[in-house]
Amino acid sequence: MSEQLLFENIAKLRERVRLSAQKSQRSTSDITILAVSKTRPAGDIRAAYHCGLQQFGESYLREALPKIAELQDLPLVWHFIGPLQSNKTRAIATHFDWVHSVDRAKIARRLSEQRPAQLPPLQVCLQVNISGETSKSGVPPGALAELAREVIALPHLQLRGLMAIPAPSTDTQQQRRAFAGLRNALLDLRALVPGLDTLSMGMSHDLEAAIAEGATLIRVGSAIFGRRDG
Ligand SMILES: *Cc1c(COP(=O)(O)O)cnc(C)c1O
Repeated sequence: MSEQLLFENIAKLRERVRLSAQKSQRSTSDITILAVSKTRPAGDIRAAYHCGLQQFGESYLREALPKIAELQDLPLVWHFIGPLQSNKTRAIATHFDWVHSVDRAKIARRLSEQRPAQLPPLQVCLQVNISGETSKSGVPPGALAELAREVIALPHLQLRGLMAIPAPSTDTQQQRRAFAGLRNALLDLRALVPGLDTLSMGMSHDLEAAIAEGATLIRVGSAIFGRRDG
């Protein structure tokens, strides 16, 4: 895509973030934009970096690995946000800085075991199935504390917070209820793990509601790169 359009999209996005933060008396410096670059070529990611973005999210390992290799000259932070399978954990633990979609202890154990010793701990969010969404991903809220207990015991993972992908809705009140559910789950979990600081929630269509409910990291694809074909 053209660098001019990308620049304009990112400027518009920053303005949306600024206005939403202002409404909730929050600081924009507490809200990280994670640019979701799945299906986008490495050239678009490089251009987005030149527009000031540094954190990128990918959902499909096979597509992500060549892009990560091609962009190794840039100081990018890579987040894995897609569904996790056991046979993918080694490559994810090797090539990513963050994983947002941990929802079972078995996967967490593998990621910790397979994290190369010379790298800092893998930064982890637990994905919560907050609105009983149709997707099968995410730990049910009732099982969250137990999973968190297992994850904090793993030496090569650092638990940072929670992530959710609520069922899509155009109703702002409904969006906010789902995000408030995740925020409350994080508050509860802080009694067990005091350092948790990350609420990964909000996408292109609902980032205002997410910021109003305390998102610290919004995952934005189409508002930056345009509509995906796939
Ligand atoms: C694709 C994706 C996004 C970005 O969605 P947009 O609507 O394009 O902003 C965010 N989070 C996850 C987990 C995704 O898979």
